[in-house]
Amino acid sequence: MKKILVIEDDQVIRENILKLLKAEGFDVTGASNGSQGLSAAVSSLPDVILCDVMMPELDGYGVLVALRSHPLTATVPFVFLTGKAERSEVRQGMELGADDYLTKPFSKAELVGAISSRLKKQAAFVQQQHNLRSSSELVQDAADKLEQIKTSLCGALEREEFQVYYQPQVNVQSGKIMSAEALVRWLHPEKGLISPAEFIPDAEETGFIVQLGEWVLRTACKQMQVWQNAGFSLQQVAVNLSPRQFHQPDLSSRVAQILAEIGLAPSSLELELTESLMVEDAKSAIATLQQLKDLGVSISIDDFGTGYSSLSYLAQYPFDVLKIDRCFISNITDGCTNAAIVKAIIEMAHSLCLEVIAEGVETEAERDFLWRYECDAMQGYLFSPPVPAADFEQLLVEGK
Ligand code: C2E
Ligand code: MG
Ligand code: MG
Repeated sequence: MKKILVIEDDQVIRENILKLLKAEGFDVTGASNGSQGLSAAVSSLPDVILCDVMMPELDGYGVLVALRSHPLTATVPFVFLTGKAERSEVRQGMELGADDYLTKPFSKAELVGAISSRLKKQAAFVQQQHNLRSSSELVQDAADKLEQIKTSLCGALEREEFQVYYQPQVNVQSGKIMSAEALVRWLHPEKGLISPAEFIPDAEETGFIVQLGEWVLRTACKQMQVWQNAGFSLQQVAVNLSPRQFHQPDLSSRVAQILAEIGLAPSSLELELTESLMVEDAKSAIATLQQLKDLGVSISIDDFGTGYSSLSYLAQYPFDVLKIDRCFISNITDGCTNAAIVKAIIEMAHSLCLEVIAEGVETEAERDFLWRYECDAMQGYLFSPPVPAADFEQLLVEGK
């Protein structure tokens, strides 16, 4: 039941209004002067206050000013009751924070209409405040959650729970391992092996990817040097670079520093980037790529065909390698669409002097297809899934 407080010094008018509103189903309280009205407002917190303007001692304006400055009553809808509503008077009341004016004598319909309209506005206001609060709580919750994720990822790096696996990239014609792609794994003590597809997006969002990516780069470069020193003829190690990493202003000098520290030749490193990076700010992307190329590092475009697929950028950007996404390789042999797409990509890439690697090769038939259409290299479960460094070395030893 909605509570209405009526502050009116004229007893006849006051009781009339109270009776009328009670009959309409409101919970009503009356006050015969300003001070009584103020204390009733603070103690009962009505939903609407009706208040006479002209009263001895504390008049309606004084009541309104006091209510608006009290934290409990600052937003309670307030309607003035007045004998003469002159423009200047109405203006004064509105400026002090009144919501409406009713000029006496008013009809029952006018009175009830004014109250309902105030109640509706107040309900909308309360809802809006609630929405604002819940959306700011949601934003805060999301920020807290991200912070937690970042803390757990940082902890995992400190506890050495991350590992780099290596997947061979094999020459299609000779069947020999040419290079290795470094792929990070999280060996969680309770959850077991977690795929990067699960935690890389979180690492990217929290910014932790910069730290993690640098660790992967360092680990992969060190491992590559160990293999080269052991006499294995591995040409390159490929490391994935996320958008955040790519946008670091000092990316090329960091890469150069890591290579120098480890003593690995820049030509032994390939960096894999995805298409989405290329569309954002072409000019600065080309400049960054050129800096990396000037170091002597190779650049490959990963998951080709799944992003924006604008062919114009292929000619503009200084790529060395194009990796056909595995979604085009699967079913290459039983349909005609994927086969046609893959043939066209290989041909186009070769005419742009790019080397082509097919990802996700799982069957002999897929390999035969790639062999026939002169794809340069392939990567996939047919040859080997990504494996720990020791197992990769075994593949090198076997010269598979
Ligand atoms: P990607 O760079 O395209 O890596 C290839 C993904 O395909 C790998 O998944 C690999 O395990 C999987 N794959 C390889 N051969 C086959 C196959 O024959 N069949 C199928 N179904 N899958 C195959 P993974 O290791 O789960 O990595 C997923 C993605 O996570 C990577 O895609 C890469 O975008 C990202 N990622 C992995 N490691 C890193 C990293 O160190 N840094 C960054 N920034 N991203 C990484
Ligand atoms: Mg990759
Ligand atoms: Mg890929």
